[in-house]
Amino acid sequence: MGPGPSDIHPSVLAALAAPTVGHLDPYFLQIMDEVQQMLREVFQTENQMTMAISGTGSAGMETCVVNLVEPRDKVIVCQNGVFGGRMADVARRAGGDVTVLERPFGEVFSADEIAAAVDQHKPKVVGIVHAETSTGALQPLEEISRIVHDAGALLLVDCVTSLGGLPVSIDAVGIDAAYSGTQKCLSCPPGLAPVTFSPRALEAMDARSNAVSSWYLDISMLRNYWGADRAYHHTAPINMNYALHQALRLVLDEGLENRFARHRQHHEALKAGLEVLGISYSVTEPSHRLPMLNSVLIPEGIDDGQVRSQLLNEFGIEIGGGLGPMKGKTWRIGLMGEAASSTNVLSFLAAVDQCLAAQRQSAPTGAGTAAASAVYLNS
Ligand SMILES: *Cc1c(COP(=O)(O)O)cnc(C)c1O
Repeated sequence: MGPGPSDIHPSVLAALAAPTVGHLDPYFLQIMDEVQQMLREVFQTENQMTMAISGTGSAGMETCVVNLVEPRDKVIVCQNGVFGGRMADVARRAGGDVTVLERPFGEVFSADEIAAAVDQHKPKVVGIVHAETSTGALQPLEEISRIVHDAGALLLVDCVTSLGGLPVSIDAVGIDAAYSGTQKCLSCPPGLAPVTFSPRALEAMDARSNAVSSWYLDISMLRNYWGADRAYHHTAPINMNYALHQALRLVLDEGLENRFARHRQHHEALKAGLEVLGISYSVTEPSHRLPMLNSVLIPEGIDDGQVRSQLLNEFGIEIGGGLGPMKGKTWRIGLMGEAASSTNVLSFLAAVDQCLAAQRQSAPTGAGTAAASAVYLNS
């Protein structure tokens, strides 16, 4: 129940152990085609250029940035947490002329401030994080997309934590480039980074005057392997692709809408339980809270490390601590993919009740599990 990697279904682990075939074996080529098609469905896009980059979510971030940003290109990066900060760092290393817009951790960006910045800086690319795992904040994108496109810029979105747990609606929102990771709401081990590029993003890549600074992540070469040519580029991580194939099959068997509703339901139950235990969310605006990453304030007088080690050692439950300026101030409780279950919510609420009682030298109340159970009964 941390901020990823999430729990993994046994059939996905079993897929990892299947025999390794060659990276040009017809069987593997079929797996690749199916992975691409299933990724399009999960990303909610028709983008031809949709595939899994070899590497974790950060490799997906780097792929999008280095292919879209050339030296001296103007880039705006929206930073309201750790991952926006990472995107700005990558864009600077790619030689971009980067303007960082900042918001305090836990807040999101308004369309107006993006409009003002786009107007002032006239960027080629605007980068933003959909689901900020470091803060638990959900960034609305529709209006921002319109503003970015009206200014002729490209919209780059970090969907690492949202993909598979929230609608990312690539085509409906008009996102030009997006990346994700396998180990959050897709419930697959870490190791691949799904990416998707709109035709406009591909045009921008075709119009580059410099070669992409990264050989490994250069889409102009990778598209010849994932596309019809099947030209060798690097040896694909065969078994990771088996695992992603199976994980995506589980996502689509469940159905996207059902999966989104499941994440929301367990978030509502957890929230009800936390509230009666006196634990509040660090994101104050309820509509900006992520269902799959519940960032809460550590109650006054409670020892962060002691609670997390008791949760782990006594109850076998892992949650995340705060990142960056939130270190020691928040807990991050993940309900990602397979981990979004009533078993997890009820076990966690019972366990944290015990941990708080131990520190306050009082009796656990049982109120958290009762409140969550009431949500389940009424839903
Ligand atoms: C986890 C995460 C990343 C980085 O992914 P890695 O798999 O750790 O490389 C980037 N952005 C967000 C929002 C994330 O949650």
